[in-house]
Amino acid sequence: MQSEFDLINRIRNRVVNHSGADLALGIGDDTAILREQSGRETLITVDLLVEEIDFKLEYAPPRWLGHKVLAVSLSDIAAMGGAPRYSLLTLGIPKLRLQSEDFWEEFFTGYFALAAQEGVTLIGGDISSAPDRLTIDSFVIGHCPAGRAVRRGGARVGDGIYLTGTIGAAATGLKLLLQGLRVHEGEKSLSQSAIRAHLRPEARVGFGKLVGELNLAHAMIDVSDGLGQDLAHICEESDTAAIIDLELLPVAEEVKLVVENQEEAFSLAICGGEDFELLLTAGMDLEDRLMAVAENCGLALTRIGEITKTDKNLNPVIFHHHGNVKPILAGGYDHFSI
Ligand code: ADP
Ligand code: MG
Repeated sequence: MQSEFDLINRIRNRVVNHSGADLALGIGDDTAILREQSGRETLITVDLLVEEIDFKLEYAPPRWLGHKVLAVSLSDIAAMGGAPRYSLLTLGIPKLRLQSEDFWEEFFTGYFALAAQEGVTLIGGDISSAPDRLTIDSFVIGHCPAGRAVRRGGARVGDGIYLTGTIGAAATGLKLLLQGLRVHEGEKSLSQSAIRAHLRPEARVGFGKLVGELNLAHAMIDVSDGLGQDLAHICEESDTAAIIDLELLPVAEEVKLVVENQEEAFSLAICGGEDFELLLTAGMDLEDRLMAVAENCGLALTRIGEITKTDKNLNPVIFHHHGNVKPILAGGYDHFSI
C-alpha cells in the first residue's frame, strides 16, 4: 500500500536538480531555499484545479493532466514576459486514488516532461487526503529583469492588438468530450486535435519570455477565460477600449466541427476559454520585430485589432465585421456564474 511518504519519495526521486545557481535547497526540508539576485524580480503564480470542476478523470489521460496543471501556470508566467524556473505542487487526494500507482506514474511523467522541456525544477509541495475529489494546486515561480514584467495595465491608444496561434479549439474539444467523444492518442483527426487542445494545452513560454526580454509589448495576458473577457481585462486595467476586426480573427479550424454558421464560430472563439494563447498590445512600429520573434518560436502571430479611447457608454471591447459593429454574445468562463 502506498503512503503519503511513498508518494513524496517517488516525486522527489524524479526531480533532476535539487540545487543549482539560484536554488540552495529543493525538496526534503521544511522549506526550499532560493538565493536572491539583484536586478531582477520574482514572479509567483498559482492555479487551483478541482476534479469535476476543472477536469474530469473520466476523460483526461493522467499524463495529459500532469502536463496541463503545469502548463496553465507556465502560461501565467509567459503572460508576464517572464521565464519560469521553479514549481511547487499541492495535492488533495481521495484515499482510493492515492493507491493508484499507475495514475501517479503517468501524471508525473506528463508533469516532469513539460518541466524538463521548459527548464523548471519542482522544489516542494504538500499532500493531504481529500474527501472525494482530487484537488491540485500548481505553483510556478519565474523571473524577469527588474521593472520589465508586462502587465495588463500598460496598453496605449493606437497599439495594435496581437494574438498568438488560433482560438476556439479548446472550447471545441470540451464540447466534443461532453458529447461523448474520447481521446484516441495517435489518431490524427480534427476532432482529436480539438480534444488535445482542451486536455493538453501548450503554454507559449518561449515567446512570452522573449516579448518581455526584448520589451516588445505594452500589455499582455494569456487567453484563459476567452478572448473577449481577457481583452476586457487589459482594457479595464489600462483605461482604454479595443476594436477587434472579426475578419482578422484566427479562428481554429476545429471550431467548424461544432458550429452551424459563422456567427457561432466567432462566438465560440471569443467566449470559449482555455486556449492559453498570448494576447498582447504593442506599438505598431514594433510589429515586424514581434512577427519575427513569433516566427522564430514557430508561432503564428496575428494583428486582430487596435486599442482605442474609452467611451463610457460603450462596452470596452467592440467587434467589427467588414466595418460594421457586430454584437457578440459576450462573456467567458466564470466559476461563480449559475
Ligand atoms: P511538512 O510536514 O513540512 O509539510 P512534508 O512531509 O509534507 O513536510 O514534505 C516533505 C518534503 O517533501 C518538503 O520538502 C515538501 O516540500 C516536499 N513535498 C511534499 N509534498 C510534495 C509534492 N506534492 N510535490 C513536491 N514536493 C512535495
Ligand atoms: Mg506537508
